[in-house]
Amino acid sequence: MANPIITLEHVTRTFRVKRETIKAVDDVSLDIHEGEIVCLVGESGCGKTTTGKMLAGVLPISAGKILYRGKDIARLSGRDHKQFRLGVQMIHQDPYASLNPAHTIAAIIAAPLQHHGLTRGEAQTQARVRELLALVDLTPPDDFLEKFPHQLSGGQRQRVSIARALTVNPSFIVADEAVSMVDVSIRISLLNTLTKLKTAMGLGVLFITHDLALAKYFAWEGRVGVMYLGRLVELAPARQLVEQPQHPYTQVLLSAIPEADPEITRHKRRIELRSMDVPSLLRLPTGCAFHPRCPQFLGATCERDVPELLAAHGARVACHLVSRQ
Ligand code: SF4
Repeated sequence: MANPIITLEHVTRTFRVKRETIKAVDDVSLDIHEGEIVCLVGESGCGKTTTGKMLAGVLPISAGKILYRGKDIARLSGRDHKQFRLGVQMIHQDPYASLNPAHTIAAIIAAPLQHHGLTRGEAQTQARVRELLALVDLTPPDDFLEKFPHQLSGGQRQRVSIARALTVNPSFIVADEAVSMVDVSIRISLLNTLTKLKTAMGLGVLFITHDLALAKYFAWEGRVGVMYLGRLVELAPARQLVEQPQHPYTQVLLSAIPEADPEITRHKRRIELRSMDVPSLLRLPTGCAFHPRCPQFLGATCERDVPELLAAHGARVACHLVSRQ
């Protein structure tokens, strides 16, 4: 396989909260390649957004290393740094907050093109703006050019955010809960647009979501990483993760997904947790952080030893049950 676009090596991020240090992300390692989709899923507070922000260079790491095309992003300067800043773009959850309400859609998309000297002259800029709007399925583009963000629907605003991210010809997109604020029907259409762009432009994508059903749909040809309290607990090709989940937490998440077919739902068994309380990052359980809730809790080993993320049957899994097989 070609060299990865993005490599995370033992990345950790700590924060000071109430005079104590918490690990929002703990020892995460991951490679993402050109044209690959990786979804990060987990409950809120599991560290997925923090991971995305570090990867996009908007939040410094506390330990470890992040490489962009093999180079440590903390040491980049000059041309390499600019290539990274333009090469990795982030799409946020709330497009309304990230689009200037006083500017037209044409002005919003033209600004980065002009700022980075990517087009020459007004005519070329306008042509590129139209091209980008068409690329994100805002057609016909002329219907959108003179509109303001408040005149668009949530889904259309998110398409404008995607078009703006594409102005600088990125090679990697971090999409953080990018479709969670729009209706379900629009979500699928937005995901289809992202998939189309990934294929057409060879984009690598880190798609962050709390919704495993969405991750399953979007990353079907890619991989899914499951995070729990700051750690990656399972990373596997999406099909494999859905059909043969190995980590007990992944199994619990999958068992809670409603199925479209009522017959399947009737026979589906929801796996019960030992406890519904999610531990605080300020008071992390010893050993495996999932042990107070884990339905397959093994006893002292789980309470004492932190499981490593080890290769297991084509996936990587952090669980003592799996490492014993
Ligand atoms: Fe459950 Fe133990 Fe595996 Fe943690 S290490 S997920 S507590 S079986």
